[in-house]
Amino acid sequence: MSNYNIFLRKGKCSHCSNTVIIQRKYSGENLCPECFQKNIEKIIYKTISKYQMLDPEDRIVVALSGGKDSISLLYNLNNIQNRTHQSKSIIALTIDEGIKEYREHSIKKAREFCKEHDIEHKIISFKEKIGYTLDEIIKLKKESSDYKYACNYCATGRRRLLNDGAKELGGTVLAMGHNLTDFAETYLMNILYKRLDIIANQYLFKKEYNKINHYFIKKITPLIRIPEEEIFLYSNIKKFSYYPSHCPYREKDPIIRKRVLDFIQECKKYSPEIEFNLLSGFLELSETLYYHREKKEYNSCQICGYPCGSGKICTYCSFLQELP
Ligand code: SF4
Ligand SMILES: [Zn+2]
Ligand SMILES: [Zn+2]
Repeated sequence: MSNYNIFLRKGKCSHCSNTVIIQRKYSGENLCPECFQKNIEKIIYKTISKYQMLDPEDRIVVALSGGKDSISLLYNLNNIQNRTHQSKSIIALTIDEGIKEYREHSIKKAREFCKEHDIEHKIISFKEKIGYTLDEIIKLKKESSDYKYACNYCATGRRRLLNDGAKELGGTVLAMGHNLTDFAETYLMNILYKRLDIIANQYLFKKEYNKINHYFIKKITPLIRIPEEEIFLYSNIKKFSYYPSHCPYREKDPIIRKRVLDFIQECKKYSPEIEFNLLSGFLELSETLYYHREKKEYNSCQICGYPCGSGKICTYCSFLQELP
């Protein structure tokens, strides 16, 4: 049993007389490649407008890994900006964590895509900013008692480098390629670990305090209403040249995140709308928590000055301190 029948060649499209390529079980729609592609682009456009993700004056920086999600996102945002009168050109930003046999391939795809579409592209590496590649960090930390798995080090470093890199490039928003499936996985993780402050903080219409605004760029996720399989199909219909493999650390480390994703995929087979339920549940819960939960004062990190919750030092600076 699957959530979709993808690459189906029987039956007619719900919108025209062409042969269907996908049956969406969660909505009952049958779509041909042409209508499917238009529909995906419409969803992206409507998501941006519904959640007020962009202002006409925004300078958009797109986090570009070279995978299907970020390439689809960059393609769409670039088209939207090109169609918008007097909009500022897009900049793509890639973080090179230094993951051998993986990141160099995806960076090649990112570079080629930007060249082909004439998009400014900046690459920032862990090596240059932190002093070590992620592979070197793992080698150094692997045997220590406080080893936290590759994804923890990686996400902490990448989050800060993306944020600071986007600001240095003059960006006013940072667009991330998270799709509905990524979102469902993260949300369920936050529920499992009772991270209510994080859920409240992710409220899509929140008004940022000036202090936070000064340090953190606004993040937007225009693919949030499109399941992973559909981005995959869309990228293939568009014939995007993206890097298809997953990071080796995701497979190697026994991270709970991967199990949560497997669980969602399993549930989807029986209840195709489950990711959409998680999204609408999140929208309600984040709004309630944002308005009704007691707002905590942020401390400022004693090293970098960024807001850092209740501790004295932010996660990024603690991560740097753990390195020799
Ligand atoms: S899977 Fe983990 S280690 Fe690999 S790129 Fe993602 S966060 Fe980094
Ligand atoms: Zn059609
Ligand atoms: Zn800090």
